[in-house]
Amino acid sequence: MRGTSMADIGSYNEKLVLQLIRAAPDGVSQSQVVRTSGLSRQTVSLIARRLLLEGLIETAGQRISGPGKPTTLLRTVADSRWTIGLHVDPAHLTVVICDLQGNPVDSTTLGAPTEDAGADIARIAAEIERLCAHHGAVMIHDLPAPAAQSGDGGSVPQSPPRRVVLGIGVAAPAPMDVAAGELTTPPWLPGWHGAAVVADLEAATGLPVLLDKDTNAALTGEIWAGHLPAEETVLYLYLSHGVGSAVSADGRVHRGSSTQAGEIGHLPTGLADEICRCGRHGCLNLFTDARRMIERATAAGAKVGPHDISAAVDAIVAAAERGESAALQAVEQHLDAVVAALEILSSIHDPQRIIVGGPMLTALLPLATPRIREGTAARLVETGGTLHFSELGNAAGAIGAACLFLEEELSPGRRLGARARSGS
Ligand SMILES: [Zn+2]
Repeated sequence: MRGTSMADIGSYNEKLVLQLIRAAPDGVSQSQVVRTSGLSRQTVSLIARRLLLEGLIETAGQRISGPGKPTTLLRTVADSRWTIGLHVDPAHLTVVICDLQGNPVDSTTLGAPTEDAGADIARIAAEIERLCAHHGAVMIHDLPAPAAQSGDGGSVPQSPPRRVVLGIGVAAPAPMDVAAGELTTPPWLPGWHGAAVVADLEAATGLPVLLDKDTNAALTGEIWAGHLPAEETVLYLYLSHGVGSAVSADGRVHRGSSTQAGEIGHLPTGLADEICRCGRHGCLNLFTDARRMIERATAAGAKVGPHDISAAVDAIVAAAERGESAALQAVEQHLDAVVAALEILSSIHDPQRIIVGGPMLTALLPLATPRIREGTAARLVETGGTLHFSELGNAAGAIGAACLFLEEELSPGRRLGARARSGS
């Protein structure tokens, strides 16, 4: 039985051709696709014709290279298929619509997740419906069944559908059971412990849903948005209420055997501190957990006020910028720990590119950039690597989640393990 979400994207070979065309935003020739895919000229030609008829690709002018006739370029129609990205962050729920190139079309930020995950999911589903209706998008399951394809070009549909929503990618904090599509015990989201995110959101929207870690999603968003070269090894450090890391090589995020790769809260930083709940000294989370930073600043005399965590962090950063020592010290300890973590992770992964991002980075920004630059400078000179600060802002997780869904949909013969499509 064909999954509803793939009804119009089709077979292994079609996905392969579409992915190769998508990877070249300025267009690629059919001969180039033949060379890269290893498929026969006839197969590529047939698939390209179908993709053109279905409105997934279009011609993009001609390229003249050397003697002979100019070649016609093909590129994807970004507007033809959309995906939804959802980021479940302790501080906010972000919903974004992305096009077939992974570019954000629209987004909304809802209030923070509550103690009632079921009510939150209903709220999210209503927002997805509102956003899609606002843009005249069509859910994939509402498309009329495609007419039987004869494969010989047959009858031409009047006009191919646009803005067809394929599904939803969800980014959430670890730990989670990706295969079951459930969060387990994310420390900052008590109301979402055990939440069956994939099943519940599929039931509420009728769309296929894929779940992954916020760190993996954010890195994927960076790779897509920056068109980063696939051969690069990229180390991403994600700073939120907690801290996590992700690494990609060959354009793919490394997940490990149970999607728990990059859980670095107990990385030994070598910095002195009280004993961590794991029994060791100097664990990264002792310095980088937002709650710990607030406690540290408050204990040293900083006035934080009865705020929620995000507002308290903002108050500490503002006080630190004014030069108030208690707040400044807490922020500096956080950043020292981040630098120590980058040092260790760089030794392990030897990245060409380091990206630091996440909501906590946004909050710490004016103080974070000089400290992190200074702390990593010597190593970067030694390795020739580069350091970047995410420019996707707080929507990075949601954009990345949409990209992860797309990546999964467009990748021939690959499954993440999550139920990436409905069983209907
Ligand atoms: Zn520990």
